Amino acid sequence: MAHNFMSILTGSFAYPAAENPTVAVMEAAYRHHNLNARYLNCEVTPQQLGDAVHGAVAMGWAGFNCSIPNKVEVIGYLDELAESAKLIGAVNCVINRDGYLIGENTDGKGFVESLRTVADPTGKNFAILGAGGAARAIAVESALAGAASITIVNRDLGRGQAVVDIISENTNSTATFIPWVGDVRIPKSTDIIVNATSIGLFPDVDARVPIDVDSLHAGQVVADVIHNPPITHLLTDAAARGCITLDGRGMLVNQARVNMNLWTGVDADGSVMRAVLDDLFGA
Ligand code: NDP
Repeated sequence: MAHNFMSILTGSFAYPAAENPTVAVMEAAYRHHNLNARYLNCEVTPQQLGDAVHGAVAMGWAGFNCSIPNKVEVIGYLDELAESAKLIGAVNCVINRDGYLIGENTDGKGFVESLRTVADPTGKNFAILGAGGAARAIAVESALAGAASITIVNRDLGRGQAVVDIISENTNSTATFIPWVGDVRIPKSTDIIVNATSIGLFPDVDARVPIDVDSLHAGQVVADVIHNPPITHLLTDAAARGCITLDGRGMLVNQARVNMNLWTGVDADGSVMRAVLDDLFGA
């Protein structure tokens, strides 16, 4: 019997890279699905990115992730951008189709996939806290998934308005900006609230997202992007008010599922990926 010793090659180009757990998540899923595939966690600076991309193409990689600081820089090396990546202006996942490189942004897709486990985004009113990379990806993907409205709550007006403009000019969702001063009250008509700031991320686990928790009500979905710890103060407060909660680990897992599907065509079992993260960071 002839053997095939060629592996499907994937990986990540970021700097720094040592604390990125994606390699453990991806390789566990590859093993679980009996794929002869590898994921290499590579430390690559923006100055080295061109060589890394050309090397990946020369070696026939199926694709790769880009993380900080390469998500914008990588666009210069690609042949095509998927719709949401174009709107977000950043790429975290590249697919290699015989040397033709397509840039995707799967951060927001991972969020929407995770959201779908508890609610359909179609026709819903979103309030997104923050206006950085994660917020922008979540706003764009939620709008493309059919959100009725997106309200951006942010301290910095310029960053917040920029996200509002992207949504208003390119999608069917209406978008508004609320300046974040003191404890913000969430508008009553909001269906889905998302903390897309870094507030609460380990080790700063005691930090509170400044919202008036009394403005939350039962039946609303409250989602957090923070994956460590999975249960943040915000989610605890929201659960106490009868809200449906969604943790950031689900977003991370679903982003990895989307990446794996784009590279291998396999619909991965998210529970295998989740178990790796729970094991590494605590459930
Ligand atoms: P950015 O630095 O691009 O943006 C951070 C945003 O948070 C800014 O809008 C900033 O507001 C806001 N912010 C930070 N601190 C405060 C504060 N004290 N009060 C109010 N607003 C604040 O970060 P990213 O968007 O890239 O990442 C945000 C978080 O999302 C990170 O914790 C990251 O780990 C997480 N993330 C999770 C993913 C997952 O799969 N679970 C995927 C991607 C990211 P301002 O503009 O006013 O400065």
